[in-house]
Amino acid sequence: MTAMPTAAESVIAAARALLGDRLATASALREQHSRGEDTTTPTLPDAVAFPTNTEEVAALVTLCAQHGVPVVPFGAGTSLEGHVNPVRGGLSIDLSRMNNVLDVSAEDLDCLIEPGVTRQQLNEYLRDQGMFFPVDPGSVCTIGGMCATRASGTNAVRYGTIKENVLSLEVVLADGRVINTGSRARKASNGYDLTRLMIGSEGTLGIITKIRLRLHGIPEATSAAVCQFETLKGAVDTVIQTLQVGVPVARMELVDEVQMAACISYSKLEGYAPTPCLFLEFHGTEAGVKEQAEMVQAIAADNGGKGFAWATDAETRNKLWKARHDAYWAAIALEPGKRGIATDVCVPISRLDEALLGAKQDILASGLTAPICGHVGDGNFHTVILVDDKDPAALERAWELDKAIVHRALKLGGTCSGEHGIGIGKREFLELEHGPEALAVMRSIKQTLDPKGILNPGKMFRN
Ligand SMILES: Cc1cc2nc3c(=O)[nH]c(=O)nc-3n(C[C@H](O)[C@H](O)[C@H](O)COP(=O)(O)OP(=O)(O)OC[C@H]3O[C@@H](n4cnc5c(N)ncnc54)[C@H](O)[C@@H]3O)c2cc1C
Repeated sequence: MTAMPTAAESVIAAARALLGDRLATASALREQHSRGEDTTTPTLPDAVAFPTNTEEVAALVTLCAQHGVPVVPFGAGTSLEGHVNPVRGGLSIDLSRMNNVLDVSAEDLDCLIEPGVTRQQLNEYLRDQGMFFPVDPGSVCTIGGMCATRASGTNAVRYGTIKENVLSLEVVLADGRVINTGSRARKASNGYDLTRLMIGSEGTLGIITKIRLRLHGIPEATSAAVCQFETLKGAVDTVIQTLQVGVPVARMELVDEVQMAACISYSKLEGYAPTPCLFLEFHGTEAGVKEQAEMVQAIAADNGGKGFAWATDAETRNKLWKARHDAYWAAIALEPGKRGIATDVCVPISRLDEALLGAKQDILASGLTAPICGHVGDGNFHTVILVDDKDPAALERAWELDKAIVHRALKLGGTCSGEHGIGIGKREFLELEHGPEALAVMRSIKQTLDPKGILNPGKMFRN
């Protein structure tokens, strides 16, 4: 007697009939979809699907709903908190082949894209049209993944996070229905804000299949600089005072001396010393940029800043920002073979010194290597705690350090995650930050939109 096919086998057979060889069960592909850039123990999905349009995504989700099989949306797998780990198996739906720019409007400064488009691809597409898309995580990730994690980057202090730059979404719900969450209007007072509900939902409420984005005009003038400081406190105070006097900086990134040494070595930066630094960028008219730069220079000088190394030509600027974007890999390269646990706290700007200098003390006390860098213009900073993920004692120490940094940030009125999200790694912090009542509301939203619990199960909530 032949055994009945399991639910997963039934889904695989039907999905293969739908997608042909775009439904993969080869172990290499399943391994590639078993976790992201995190330290979770990998879990293999039963299969990986590569749809190329909304109808295929909807058909796959409908199938999984019928059979009660988990569905894990997958963009580029760069998330840092175990988001894409298919902890209960099922189907990993890889959206990277849905990567078309569908429409660009120069008149309205917006565009419609598929979720697999990366910001690098979009900016390349827009390059000759005088527009750009500003949200820039330091990874090559999909804009669908950025929406799902509520991502941001170095430009957020001036242009906002992904949340402020999405006008509307097309989403496949857990039962296969397809909805649009909004219009192209710049603002709307038109019912519950489903766009914002989906942004940051980490694949637990729906699969994003189209995204309408805001674009921005390329500024008339841009200049970037690196300012080196004697102390970390000098750099942090410069950030706080710059924001408090209202200088509209476009980018203001901090690296501590450990991270700067890592960047110098990894990105072959010449002419810099391994001291705490601010990477700055100013956008505007020629006169405006000059005025902003002079104001920040004066503030930095009062705080022990040792002059500005300017990068006015595009090539030097790009090299500088590439080095900043590669800071995570530079940190990892400090101790080859180890993985990084990235903390991601964000605090009110007036409490940044307590949060950041406190974190530095915790790191020194822990004896671990953990460079600090951050989008400090938003009060957000990261430590990349280097750890051998096969050594349980070392992992334990790293998690203790992570916890100390988060607990301090929460006490200062901040959040456990400014941009990376919750996934598996920050579930206990989500409870701590929001409390039982708010968490119960979140759970009831999940229950309403995904009653069978098939969408990215095991994430955000502990059970
Ligand atoms: C070197 C490095 C630097 C980084 N720097 C930053 C940074 O500066 N700022 C920042 O915010 N993050 C940063 N990150 C984290 C990461 O790049 C972001 O979280 C990114 O948004 C993830 O996108 P992804 O395409 O890789 O998504 P994935 O990792 O594939 O998925 C992330 C989550 O989104 C869900 N998802 C993916 N696509 C969809 C979709 N179409 N519909 C619904 N759900 C979906 C997944 O299920 C998962 O829960 C960095 C990571 C690395 C490795």
